Amino acid sequence: MNVKICKSFLNCTEEKTLLLIKKGYPIKECKKCGHRFTQIKDVDNHLNEVYSDKYFFQGKDGYPDYMKEKDLLYKSGINYANILSKYTQPGEVLDVGSAAGFILKGLEKSGWRCHGIEPNDTMATYGRDELKLDIQTCGLENYQSEKKFDLVNMIQVIGSLYDLDKSLLIISNLLNKNGLVMVESWDMNSLAARIMGKYWHEYCPPSVITWFSDKTLVQVFNFYGFELVGKGHPSKKININHGLSLIDESFPKFIFKKSILNFFSRIVGKYNISYPTVDLKWYLFKKL
Ligand SMILES: [Zn+2]
Repeated sequence: MNVKICKSFLNCTEEKTLLLIKKGYPIKECKKCGHRFTQIKDVDNHLNEVYSDKYFFQGKDGYPDYMKEKDLLYKSGINYANILSKYTQPGEVLDVGSAAGFILKGLEKSGWRCHGIEPNDTMATYGRDELKLDIQTCGLENYQSEKKFDLVNMIQVIGSLYDLDKSLLIISNLLNKNGLVMVESWDMNSLAARIMGKYWHEYCPPSVITWFSDKTLVQVFNFYGFELVGKGHPSKKININHGLSLIDESFPKFIFKKSILNFFSRIVGKYNISYPTVDLKWYLFKKL
């Protein structure tokens, strides 16, 4: 069933409610479809500016040190391959926003034939040279391929696409009939998100541009010809330093903030802890 939503998010003329302002970006919600979003200021330079090397190595809503999380990312790829094995056989996968490709490496280990796209050239080059993966330096909105895939994998990527309409059309064209899309996304209606309010870590424009609930995510995929075939909470571990870096970025200054965060970073920062994924979910969609 196709739920009628604003036909194009970028050109939606419906009335919007201003929910909050974060880092100077007004976050709004469409009264008609519930689409929650902000608008980026410079589309042409967006990917280069947001996904610079700083994103992967200096926090800034990204990673304090991406390379230290390679084992966690690899395990995440294995976990997703296990989930996917309940729905399909391994085939050709396109991973969107691959970074250096550690998640892809987990899928490869599980039998998937792997391809990826990643806007940051340092990351994509590492994946090509060191991990021997087929990763192109490219954003989804500019990606062109004659090749068709059985799966498009998007782990914490859907909220960062700057042209959602175009991206979903591209994904649909890239997939074989009955092709699947795995989406890992943060739930804006989760209890954690509601309690944290404007300090919820996922409100971090401009690297995140769109926020979804179960309802709005399914709504947009339905609109572009997909049906939901499964969903759940991923098992997830997070590096403590990565968590502290998110707190540093999301919270306003409080007394001794830097000292307290540095203290924890020195003592326990290198460890990984199980993240209670109450606000993080996976969704599997099938192209109809
Ligand atoms: Zn709308």
